[in-house]
Amino acid sequence: MDRIVGIKPPDYIRVKGWIEKLGAAYGDLFEVTSIGNSLLGRKIYAMQMGNLDSPVLYCGGVHGREWITTLLMMYFAEDVLSARANRRQICDMDINKLLSARGLIIVPALNPDGVEISINGADCQGLEGYLGEDLFERCRSREFCSKWKANARGVDINRNFDAAWDDMRAIAMDSGICGPSMAGWTGEYPESEPETRAVVELCSRAKFRHVVAFHSQGEEIYWNYRNFTPAKSHLMARILSASSGYALREPGFSASSAGLKDWFMEKYHAPAFTIEIGSGECPIPLSQFRFLYNRLREMLVLGAAL
Ligand SMILES: [Zn+2]
Repeated sequence: MDRIVGIKPPDYIRVKGWIEKLGAAYGDLFEVTSIGNSLLGRKIYAMQMGNLDSPVLYCGGVHGREWITTLLMMYFAEDVLSARANRRQICDMDINKLLSARGLIIVPALNPDGVEISINGADCQGLEGYLGEDLFERCRSREFCSKWKANARGVDINRNFDAAWDDMRAIAMDSGICGPSMAGWTGEYPESEPETRAVVELCSRAKFRHVVAFHSQGEEIYWNYRNFTPAKSHLMARILSASSGYALREPGFSASSAGLKDWFMEKYHAPAFTIEIGSGECPIPLSQFRFLYNRLREMLVLGAAL
């Protein structure tokens, strides 16, 4: 059977179509839900499969221009579903056995408006009202839009979580980011954005063993957060590193906060990771995807098994 998820820009309509087709092909093996709506009303999809008593969260598309992570999530979801349906292994690992013990909840795009802005420009309905005239005018440039990281209000979702948010706000202010921006703005208060709240609420319902947030780029794995890092995080990170060849990184005590990984570790005392996939220019060109996927496939399976 031909693949459903092609190596194409994962804008909202395309992702929606892929999810519907995966549902038609493998509907008995997973469930699709929406964990909330983006600022501009796009659904934030979640695909859940396996033993949901013991789930792991994979989250892509947190930053708009890092939409290669949305494609990574969709491509991997199809790989897993196809392996289950056909009783195939992935990287010599028995996927049915794995998913009878572990659940996997995949959010391909936590920030679907940001992904849309980066791929398709500023033609998103309603954007002007949220962004204000100046920033919206700049968004008329496709070059400018392609580098967009934030949501449709110019808030960086990965600086909007309630984990030393004040510190991150001070860092943003010091670097001149004092309001809505394509990247780096914390928002007016923690969890001010619907996209942030959607994943916060998902985490309160799902009781995740651990969380993996996918970003690009740098070929790096971030695994600690201040004094909140669980004892087992380092070993888990080393396994992720060994299977991908990506380097482990430890930011200084106050270098990073207010991200999903930081918040999850502080709130749930459980491991969380940020994996920066790929290297080179951002957005990462689709021509790199096959190489990138082949390199990360084993890590993606192991990351669910840990
Ligand atoms: Zn990012």
